[in-house]
Amino acid sequence: MEAFEWQQAQSPADAAALVTHTTAEAMLTLQARPSERQAILVKAGGVDLLDLMKEGLAIPRRLVDISQLRELQGISTGDDGSLRIGALTTLAQIAVHPGLRQSHAALAQAAAMAASPQIRNRATLGGNLLQRPRCWYLRSAAHHCLRKGGGHCFAFAGDNRYHAVFANHGCAIVHSSTPATALLAFHAQVEILHPRGQRYRLPLEDFFVLPEADMHRENILGPGEILTAVWLPPQMPANRSLYLQVAEKTAFDWPLAAVAVVLDLDAAGLCREASIVLGAAAPVPWRARQAEALLRGAAINGETAEAAGEAALAGATPLAQNAYKLPLLATLVRRAVLGAALPQDQRAP
Ligand SMILES: Cc1cc2nc3c(=O)[nH]c(=O)nc-3n(C[C@H](O)[C@H](O)[C@H](O)COP(=O)(O)OP(=O)(O)OC[C@H]3O[C@@H](n4cnc5c(N)ncnc54)[C@H](O)[C@@H]3O)c2cc1C
Ligand code: SF4
Repeated sequence: MEAFEWQQAQSPADAAALVTHTTAEAMLTLQARPSERQAILVKAGGVDLLDLMKEGLAIPRRLVDISQLRELQGISTGDDGSLRIGALTTLAQIAVHPGLRQSHAALAQAAAMAASPQIRNRATLGGNLLQRPRCWYLRSAAHHCLRKGGGHCFAFAGDNRYHAVFANHGCAIVHSSTPATALLAFHAQVEILHPRGQRYRLPLEDFFVLPEADMHRENILGPGEILTAVWLPPQMPANRSLYLQVAEKTAFDWPLAAVAVVLDLDAAGLCREASIVLGAAAPVPWRARQAEALLRGAAINGETAEAAGEAALAGATPLAQNAYKLPLLATLVRRAVLGAALPQDQRAP
């Protein structure tokens, strides 16, 4: 790793004023002009950023450390029952938070399944949502691929077993945040501080960017912008949620396929509203809209859950080596729909 300067941010506004680039921009600049190493980047837990620096994929001049800023830490409840999760809240804190485990179970479950206990203790929610993709060609200094400003995607003719099965034209990354799958199912919003001082909120769904809109970034965060919090709308007592994933290892790994399901059931058990999001399936957490539509107004049973699993695959375009993800996703959706419909005390441990 190359030497770099270190600066402790005194406040979120201080960090926003100091930072010059997003990590994605700094990586692009480094590929285009290797001698230009002026980027000042923000560091939270440092799990992903230091990884990129050790590989020589990001070579910042300075890191601005925000990890000690108390106002970006912790989980609080608003008057209307909405939850504000500070960007520096760790995945470990989210996984064990009693209120979240009750009201937004799928998010606590997703956080608990990410990475390993050591990483969850260090990794912040903000850094997790902003981590760069895991595509091994992107992470290899020897491959100057499209996402790094090159002219070629190596995944299409190469090893694409872990790549996207939806919206995979041009670049086939999968979004690497496990909690994002659940956050989208809860219609979360992100809160952002602009370097000029304004704070604004927007739906997480509008925050992420598909390759067809911009190949070089995964989200719309601009240089100097600081992600300050994630907001979750209040949940009705009748809402039930579940996150399930399949991975090659039970820890220290990303999922091969994942799903978060949130159901709003009426007193008779009919589904008023369903939210179904697939993870490790597309460059963004992927709404399975046809499956959601199919469940609206229906009773949840084996037949409708199976139909939802099949409907979730609508529009899939698997690559040469990743069609195995389709039955995994369909099965996860079926199980998660059936599991979410059960009250928490009746679920398998
Ligand atoms: C072996 C291994 C397994 C893993 N498995 C999983 C998994 O299963 N699921 C999963 O989701 N993740 C997984 N991860 C990834 C890990 O969770 C992320 O790297 C971590 O969450 C990043 O958080 P951080 O706070 O360390 O971010 P940092 O590394 O500090 O930052 C990440 C990026 O976000 C930017 N940034 C950070 N915070 C802010 C902010 N508030 N505002 C603006 N910009 C910001 C930084 O500039 C940087 O570009 C795994 C990692 C490893 C090493
Ligand atoms: S999938 Fe995207 S990140 Fe991976 S090699 Fe292709 S362009 Fe690069």
